[in-house]
Amino acid sequence: MLQPPSPIASVCVYCGSSGAADPQYLAAAADFGRLLADSGVRLIYGGGGVGLMGACARAAHDAGGKVLGVMPEFLRMREALYDEVETVVVATMHERKQIMFEQADGFAVFPGGIGTLEEVVELMSWRRLDLHRKPIVFFSPRGFWAPLFDLIDHTVQESMTPAAFKDTFCAVERVEDILPAMAAMGDPSAPAGAVPLLM
Ligand code: AMP
Repeated sequence: MLQPPSPIASVCVYCGSSGAADPQYLAAAADFGRLLADSGVRLIYGGGGVGLMGACARAAHDAGGKVLGVMPEFLRMREALYDEVETVVVATMHERKQIMFEQADGFAVFPGGIGTLEEVVELMSWRRLDLHRKPIVFFSPRGFWAPLFDLIDHTVQESMTPAAFKDTFCAVERVEDILPAMAAMGDPSAPAGAVPLLM
């Protein structure tokens, strides 16, 4: 059995809710769920049974892993709450994101749509403000997230974002590289502060 890369005990996965996504993305989400279970790392996710979310959570649970889902009440039906795992039902999207953030030691960002984007951009903006130092690893098969990285590069070139900010996240193309990349990004409990707040 693989060892969890200390001190990452819980990983939050942000990913798409679409079931029409490329089957390779759905399969990768399931692979990562199994990998988390085999590594003894708890999965934190949005609580849904659909799309990449459902694929990842089901695979982790089926492989004997620990899973925490966080679902807003009003999305229970739409996102097909997967209640075979520990689930917290909250009132708002803000509460959902706050709990997912607090419970996780690191974040894996899988292919997704506007919801995934919203979640990760907020997480990155909190990092920009030095509110946390938890590692952020994009799983970016076939350059899925390259347009986002290009946009961030653009803001760096336009002196809107310090270049050092680009060290606060990384991208990998293989599921098995996610946890090692997270571990290599340092101790998530270390005090924040590497990126200058003002330019
Ligand atoms: P999507 O990438 O659009 O398929 O959305 C992925 C997940 O993000 C879904 O579970 C959405 O409910 C969730 N989501 C979308 N917007 C927000 C938000 N503002 N706060 C928390 N979760 C969100």
